[in-house]
Amino acid sequence: MENKPAPSNFIRNIIIDDLKTGKHKEIVTRFPPEPNGYLHIGHAKSIVLNFDLADEFNGKTHLRFDDTNPLKEETEYVESIKEDVQWLGYTWEALYFGSDFFEEMFNKALLLIKKGLAYVCDLSADEIRQTRGTLKEPGKESPYRSRSVEENLKLFEQMRKGEFADGKKVLRAKIDMASPNLNMRDPVLYRIAHTSHHNTGDKWCIYPMYDFAHPLEDALEGVTHSLCTLEFEDHRPLYDWVIRECEMESQPHQYEFARLNMTNTVMSKRKLKLLVDKKIVDGWDDPRIPTISGLRRKGYTPEAIRSFVREIGVAKSNSTVDAQMLDHFVREDLKLKSPRTMAVIRPLKVVITNYPAREVEWMDAENNPENPEMGIRKIPFSHEIYIEQDDFVEDPPKKYHRLYPGNEVRLKHAYFIKCNEVIKDEQGNITELHCTYDPKTKSGTDFTERKVKGTIHWVDAGQALQADFRLYEPLILDKENEDPADFIDNINPNSLEILQGFVEPSLKDANPHDKFQFFRHGYFNVDPKHSTADKPVFNRIVSLKSSFKL
Ligand code: ATP
Ligand code: MG
Repeated sequence: MENKPAPSNFIRNIIIDDLKTGKHKEIVTRFPPEPNGYLHIGHAKSIVLNFDLADEFNGKTHLRFDDTNPLKEETEYVESIKEDVQWLGYTWEALYFGSDFFEEMFNKALLLIKKGLAYVCDLSADEIRQTRGTLKEPGKESPYRSRSVEENLKLFEQMRKGEFADGKKVLRAKIDMASPNLNMRDPVLYRIAHTSHHNTGDKWCIYPMYDFAHPLEDALEGVTHSLCTLEFEDHRPLYDWVIRECEMESQPHQYEFARLNMTNTVMSKRKLKLLVDKKIVDGWDDPRIPTISGLRRKGYTPEAIRSFVREIGVAKSNSTVDAQMLDHFVREDLKLKSPRTMAVIRPLKVVITNYPAREVEWMDAENNPENPEMGIRKIPFSHEIYIEQDDFVEDPPKKYHRLYPGNEVRLKHAYFIKCNEVIKDEQGNITELHCTYDPKTKSGTDFTERKVKGTIHWVDAGQALQADFRLYEPLILDKENEDPADFIDNINPNSLEILQGFVEPSLKDANPHDKFQFFRHGYFNVDPKHSTADKPVFNRIVSLKSSFKL
């Protein structure tokens, strides 16, 4: 997958053209998150797109924190975003904070005022909204629109000095209150907020709005292709207006692409933050949410995420992607990389009555039959083992080939065993099985006398390591309605099941984030948060099979 050539897309074609015509000598892209939450897989789409395009054409990609709203931004988010971009496999050419450009932005605002293209307005946020008009009707001009350049310069300086309270004044562009594009109806460029900023502290009490700051940041950094999601399409005329009227030397261009939406989940920082704040999930790295840190903790790999977002491609219309598609790519990635071992998640004890009680035998087990380079490990076998509760039934239905009274099955990597007796407690619950093994059937020897239809997995009871298994189901029940507005009512109460079982002793040295394929159960990741030295916790990443077809 990783070796597949980059699929073409309309943005890539534009870049090829721009290089051919000499419009740009070098491509510069940027990934511009606002540090108001953790990144999610939608952001991964933007990261992969921006970095891949620059890589392909020997260009550069910047990481820029679009930090113009001090109320919501925090250093914790800045750090997590850096970590996630690096974990996804990318290195930025330069790191910027939008707030590093506050002085230049202020000067550009002064330029607009001097050109008669911006004015200080005393209307409240509500009044501005009310006078903005609708798609059918033009807006109403602000009574402050005709302030003189001198008065505007003086008031704007006073705004900067902190002489007005929050909300008392804004700086607005003077464009066209009758424009068919609502974004062009004298948009707000600066607002007052007496709030400490994570980067500039108390230096500023006026902050530029996104639509003013973003194009300036792009231009000041020399970005050539500024990629954003479709909802900004209507903002592009304003983007171009700012670049032109602020007389920016560098002329970036904005291109819009479809957001990534996925089934059975929510994908906006606002909603994810709500889940975290309400403690519906266990932090921003809860494996049930599609944050990069949650996906990492669940066990998804950067390779799988990159292949997934490349496969979805870049389109001009929004659509919802089946979450199972990501699962497909993680299976593909882990298939040859992760050792295949045995884990018993719901244990049932089996006593092998004809096996000597004190004996332990070490069986050879291939670590990955599809990848012989991964070698062989030894697993112990003795007279007591655990098998999966599901692998035994007293009254088997037709075509049941696993264990039942009188039936013989193969223990993976070991012997055939036959069930002779079912032991129950006073309530009638099965507590253990008594079986016999046939020494002639040892795995690896050429035994042809008789065949069995079922192979089951097991672990040695004497030496197995206790482990917790965390099995996940989708967090949001409503599959059809992606990102449902009432998502809190659609939370799946059974999205996490924690079970206590056993793994082979070879896993005692497993480290956080080591990944395994447990025979028949799927792929698992050692949880970095809950695992202890004595007891690993395994998150199920995906089961082995799915009906999903690419
Ligand atoms: P959210 O709505 O989740 O808060 P955002 O768009 O406000 O997302 P930003 O931090 O502003 O988040 O986004 C950084 C970059 O990531 C932007 O260029 C944005 O367009 C892009 N991006 C965000 N969400 C998605 C998504 N679901 N699919 C593709 N790109 C996305
Ligand atoms: Mg945002």
